[in-house]
Amino acid sequence: MPMDANEPTLFELDHGGEGRDWLPRSGGEEKAIDDLLPGESLRREPLNVPIVSEPEVVRHFTRLSRRNFCIDSGFYPLGSCTMKYNPKINDALAALPGFSQLHPEAGMEASQGTLRILYEMQTYLAALTGLSGAALNPCAGAHGELCGMMMIRAYHQDQGDKRTTVLVPDSAHGTNPASAAMAGFKIAELKSGPDGCVDIEELKRYLNEETAALMLTNPNTLGLFEKNILEIEKLVHDAGALLYYDGANLNAISGVARPGDMGFNVVHINLHKTFSTPHGGGGPGSGPVAVCEKLKPYLPVPLIEKENGQYIIVRDSEKSIGQLSTFFGNVGVILRAYVYMRMLGLEGIRKNSVTAVLNARYLQSRLKDLIPSEHDGDCMHEFVLTLKDHDRFGDLNVMAMAKNLIDRGFHAPTVYFPLIVKEALMIEPTETESKRTLDAFAEAVASIFEEYQTDPERVLHAPHETPVRKLDEVKAARQPDLAYQE
Ligand SMILES: *Cc1c(COP(=O)(O)O)cnc(C)c1O
Repeated sequence: MPMDANEPTLFELDHGGEGRDWLPRSGGEEKAIDDLLPGESLRREPLNVPIVSEPEVVRHFTRLSRRNFCIDSGFYPLGSCTMKYNPKINDALAALPGFSQLHPEAGMEASQGTLRILYEMQTYLAALTGLSGAALNPCAGAHGELCGMMMIRAYHQDQGDKRTTVLVPDSAHGTNPASAAMAGFKIAELKSGPDGCVDIEELKRYLNEETAALMLTNPNTLGLFEKNILEIEKLVHDAGALLYYDGANLNAISGVARPGDMGFNVVHINLHKTFSTPHGGGGPGSGPVAVCEKLKPYLPVPLIEKENGQYIIVRDSEKSIGQLSTFFGNVGVILRAYVYMRMLGLEGIRKNSVTAVLNARYLQSRLKDLIPSEHDGDCMHEFVLTLKDHDRFGDLNVMAMAKNLIDRGFHAPTVYFPLIVKEALMIEPTETESKRTLDAFAEAVASIFEEYQTDPERVLHAPHETPVRKLDEVKAARQPDLAYQE
């Protein structure tokens, strides 16, 4: 069946009974339901569920699933999201019944295997980030940020320090200021320098006795490594503030450099980005935090510790900021990341980061004659191009570029982010892509420019190959119409 925007709902597929009786009769003695259940427990109206056969259900969901673009079907260079291929062994091992069927309240005795993995994961993440301790229960990057900000607030309060403001560069992901605000801080936005990095003079202007922390992403969202990180670290700490590391871009440096060695006090790690595990469409995720020695007392609970060869659950500690999620967080995601890390080992993790950077630099150089970068300098694992030069690109803006890439079988890169770059196209190929795929992507971009010369209208009205054609973006957001229409 061809892809059809108007896949009916299961209720619309209902044909009122046909196909219900495909199960064989039991062969045993049959009794009327009224003889088995008391009258008041019996339903008077038939249950309002669609009557459809098993193959109809399977085909319905299979058709729907084919309308999703996914990492298993194609290249997904969505900048900042690290959409790498997820090895299936992660899923297979996380699905072992000993893990997937374990009840979270089973108790320590019965949960030693899972607890051991959680304990080891805390240790690995602290080691990889160069910090002293880690907690696994935040359920996403943004949740880790909130956790980090709450710990920083508790720490300053304990010091008797009234620090009210968190500094965030204008290149940051929107969750950074949002998380700091949720934790009760005021936000001061730092304007980036002309090189796309933190402007030291701007930082000095804002740092004072009210500064609680600076939140940084390194490499930042432009894919550039903050080369003055040690000077930044000294300025921030000399002012009595703490340094927060948004770990979304850890895939650039994992196994090569450690945020702790750069002086960061708190790090969140997006397991669902750097350490594989499927994500997209809003979940599931896992955003553990790692902290330096002086923040360890504030880590959220539960924590897993090892005592006399037993793994134990610590549910309470005097200064902890408390519990942030049910039970132990998204254990299924943590298990996948654990398998992935054990499969790779430290050397494999290092090699992945190096290859991710190599792939990004290769693709950037393949594209550089077609679309310029906003900033000079070698990119790390991702790079940001700009189509803002109207004299050169005409009406072919980033949205049109994205839709035409979709028509050519590629997921669109991140568009219009970071906010400081006009007509931004943010591309992150990851280490799991071959040279052949990167070349095909570069050729697809070139072919869009060629088509724009010969048939600009077609390019500007893309997509043409998708179940749903070009949407009115504003109307789709303001007045979504989710109903099926004949
Ligand atoms: C993805 C991302 C986040 C937020 O992480 P989630 O897991 O989506 O909550 C924060 N900062 C940057 C730079 C990101 O790319």
